Amino acid sequence: MRAALPVRAAPVYNQTVEEEMNIIACMKWVPDTHDVKVDPVTNALIREGVEHIINPFDENAIEAGLQLKEKLGGTLTVLCMGPGQAEAGLRHAIAMGADDAILLSDAAFRGSDTLATSNALAGAVKKIGQFDLILCGKQAIDGDTAQVPAGLAERLGIPQVTFAISVEPADKNSLQVKRVSDEAYELIEVKLPALVSVVKQINDPRLPSMKGVLKSKKFPIKVWGVSDIEIDPKTVGFDGSPTWVSRTFVPARHSRGETLSGTAGSIAERLVDIISGVSINPS
Ligand SMILES: Cc1cc2nc3c(=O)[nH]c(=O)nc-3n(C[C@H](O)[C@H](O)[C@H](O)COP(=O)(O)OP(=O)(O)OC[C@H]3O[C@@H](n4cnc5c(N)ncnc54)[C@H](O)[C@@H]3O)c2cc1C
Repeated sequence: MRAALPVRAAPVYNQTVEEEMNIIACMKWVPDTHDVKVDPVTNALIREGVEHIINPFDENAIEAGLQLKEKLGGTLTVLCMGPGQAEAGLRHAIAMGADDAILLSDAAFRGSDTLATSNALAGAVKKIGQFDLILCGKQAIDGDTAQVPAGLAERLGIPQVTFAISVEPADKNSLQVKRVSDEAYELIEVKLPALVSVVKQINDPRLPSMKGVLKSKKFPIKVWGVSDIEIDPKTVGFDGSPTWVSRTFVPARHSRGETLSGTAGSIAERLVDIISGVSINPS
């Protein structure tokens, strides 16, 4: 028998978007994946000294938000849960044209799994207040679960559309989203407020303008801790995370690739040998 879902009070949202749209883009600050190192003792990712970047799909989400804002008016707020260094990513978003930037950063958030991360982000969204649209990347290139957007939408009680390759205003209170699947494109009309997670084909993120860069340098980024948002501290961090990382490792490379050269006939013969398992390694 399924347990009854808890009844939630309906959140208050901006119900009309006739003139402007208030958008929140979620941004994760991720290690550059070409440079992943694992602590051999603790099995944890070594983040110190590793170059970090804005999760690439989140740059697409920010660009999509900017384009909608330019069409309809309104605001774009960028929201990130991460370490203090993530301010650099938020400043880049301001330089691109975002209006506000919020960093959720507190030791209490440490160890958050995807459930706890979406709890924390939902608490921050409730504190931001009125919004029409939340944009996320389709997944983070480090954690790779794609669970956070769905968790966030669920916690806010709003619909989610995934794999968006275009987002256009439909009527005054909805969006038309084109989403890509393995077999086809789908056109979906979604009532606002909603959450849309985007793929990289949606756009090419702009480079910041010089004016934007200058603005971003002195921009007062808001830093919120657990006590600043509407959240039970037990629902974030290690306490709020029902999953844990038991082991982290970089897969061992078993063999190097083999470059085939020669005539088409000899290459074909060698390929047949490899596929049929006659000789995996010629040397
Ligand atoms: C037990 C446990 C402990 C962990 N401890 C840590 C830790 O100490 N430090 C750590 O960095 N990670 C930690 N992680 C990983 C962490 O849970 C995930 O990085 C995080 O929940 C996001 O999941 P994901 O990377 O799969 O994001 P996805 O769900 O793949 O992300 C999809 C989209 O959601 C949004 N999003 C995701 N995360 C954020 C964020 N933080 N801020 C804003 N938007 C976001 C972005 O738009 C992103 O494109 C831990 C995980 C577990 C299970």
